[in-house]
Amino acid sequence: MELHKIAGFFMTIAVSVICTAQNEKTGTVNTNNKVPFETFVEQFSDIKVLRYQILGWKSLTLKEQKLVYYLTQASTSGRDIIWDQHYQYNLQIRKALEHIYQNYKGDKKTADWKNFEIYLKRVWFSNGIHHHYSNEKIKPAFSIAYFNGLLKATKTVLSPQITEILFNDVDSKKVNLDVAKGLLEGSAINFYAKGITQKEAEDFYAKKSSPDPKKPYSYGLNSKLVRNLKGQLEEKVWKSNGMYGAAIDKIIYWLEKAQTAAENQKQGEAIALLISYYKTGSLKTWDEYNIAWLQATEGNIDYINGFIEVYNDPLGYRGSYEGIVQIKDFDMSKKMEVVSKNAQWFEDNSPLTAEHKKKNVVGVSYKTVVVAGESGDSSPSTPIGVNLPNADWIRAEYGSKSVSLGNIIDAYSKSGGKGRLKEFANDEEEIRLSEKYAELGGKLHTSLHEVVGHASGQINPGVGTPKETLKSYASTLEEGRADLVGLYYLYNSKIQELGLVDNWKELGMQCYDSYIRNGLMTQLVRVELGSNIEESHMRNRQWVSAWVYEKGKKDNVIEMITRNGKTYFNITDYDKLYDLFGQLLKEVQRIKSEGDYEVGKALVETYGVKVDQKIHAEVLERNKQFTDAPYSGFVNPVLVPKLNAKGEIIAIDIVQPKTFAEQMLKYSKDFGFLPLEN
Ligand SMILES: [Zn+2]
Repeated sequence: MELHKIAGFFMTIAVSVICTAQNEKTGTVNTNNKVPFETFVEQFSDIKVLRYQILGWKSLTLKEQKLVYYLTQASTSGRDIIWDQHYQYNLQIRKALEHIYQNYKGDKKTADWKNFEIYLKRVWFSNGIHHHYSNEKIKPAFSIAYFNGLLKATKTVLSPQITEILFNDVDSKKVNLDVAKGLLEGSAINFYAKGITQKEAEDFYAKKSSPDPKKPYSYGLNSKLVRNLKGQLEEKVWKSNGMYGAAIDKIIYWLEKAQTAAENQKQGEAIALLISYYKTGSLKTWDEYNIAWLQATEGNIDYINGFIEVYNDPLGYRGSYEGIVQIKDFDMSKKMEVVSKNAQWFEDNSPLTAEHKKKNVVGVSYKTVVVAGESGDSSPSTPIGVNLPNADWIRAEYGSKSVSLGNIIDAYSKSGGKGRLKEFANDEEEIRLSEKYAELGGKLHTSLHEVVGHASGQINPGVGTPKETLKSYASTLEEGRADLVGLYYLYNSKIQELGLVDNWKELGMQCYDSYIRNGLMTQLVRVELGSNIEESHMRNRQWVSAWVYEKGKKDNVIEMITRNGKTYFNITDYDKLYDLFGQLLKEVQRIKSEGDYEVGKALVETYGVKVDQKIHAEVLERNKQFTDAPYSGFVNPVLVPKLNAKGEIIAIDIVQPKTFAEQMLKYSKDFGFLPLEN
């Protein structure tokens, strides 16, 4: 199955920003005014709330800024929808909790009050009373008696039945996938009226057919399934004048404004189709919109808006409301373009055997964007990459848009601070180079890995695809090969010649330091003691690192040092390490080109799977001092338009919210468009 979204939680193992261990990057500097940008907002329970920056905002024209503003307004206008989709009482509960929070005049120094605040923040973070990741109902750490006292003291209205639900076992799971409990009966999600069974719903949709069976409509995507007065099933469609109509009308209002600021005709046409879909609820229009959206590729601004991912529906029909607004990452795009233009040079000068080199390399297209705003399913917890649309036939016929959310990934990696770097780096020089080059090195490695790495090399005539020949090792061998292409060129004067870096040697040294440190040590913090490495990228980072470590042993290329009972790896000869990466790249390409399963398997099994137990235990022990919350999410920068006397927008400023609560309360006030019951 295609992975349409990469969850932020798995960010450190899923993305291919491979040059640096994600947690090791250093505090950031806002290049505009040299004031350090504070990524961290606050931490509570198992959650860390962060900020992200919209880099490049000033380089947009006013018209482009307006488009971004209108699209983010449209996106946020649907916020209430996700709350109601998650659970039918969420909006009532949110209103009550916020009313207490803003009106309670009693003692706020008690543990009970602190626990109430944490509970509200957890509910905000999950867009409802069920944990955003585990799906379990969040348990308050205060009593129902205390809560009833708060309701009374603040004259807050919440029915006793709903109050009890906060504390009892009713609707304890948002999405239940345990068939024994009944997929619908066991799920609290608000997609099916109570009493409708899985069989009834499936029978209902089995009867639906599309005009062209090869182009099936996404039936059920934009509605709630209910029972009418006659007892028959019918859909309550999410559209203007339908369910969620009040919020959808606001979305339409802002999309119509966005239309006036469209960058080009295709983009405008796509927005028009989205408006038409929201007005009619037509799934035919939804497909037409997706195709138009896919073909609108010219602009600097793009967006996701609609009922998109279906994993909140245990039956997989209904889409959760989601909005993301994105700006092209101009800096990264420029780098990618330079790398892509020179793809043939990289191929010709690689250490591959001549017959394994491609005569005509076409750089793989890879897009990084800067997020300007997120809502619904994507906020506060966000993906780090998106690949849409979801309809398989559209993907097959028209392709898909795949983007990586660059500033979100940056904010994640910066949130760890430099504690881990200091703990695991061998000396001050490594720390100095990391502070100077980790971010750029990471970006360049990603570019080289994606644009050149995956495009490089060719398979011998008559040899099958890697999936056929290398089987379960194909993925880790391919990722390792792409990593090696990157490593080979990161320590190379060519990248300086191309204007990508001011000092290729220092940048290359930094990338080698951090790759080896991560591959041989720090990535082990994500593996349980005693377990093997299973994930493809983690495997390749280890087999690449462990292979060069062993092969360089006789020349002491990488030395293992023990100091005060702690292990460090120190690279003594970067030139020789460069040669070793080149040799390994040549061999891995040979394995792929010839489909040499046995040697490929031996490489991975010998170097990439088993973990040195002593080092692993030590790494886990040293990592204990860093107590990051396991889940992170974001507040959104606020776009503030400046108006002239005629009410026209003359400029748009970005203001960062100070606290999580401030943003959540403002959203509820300004974008609370839905009634409490829908
Ligand atoms: Zn890759």
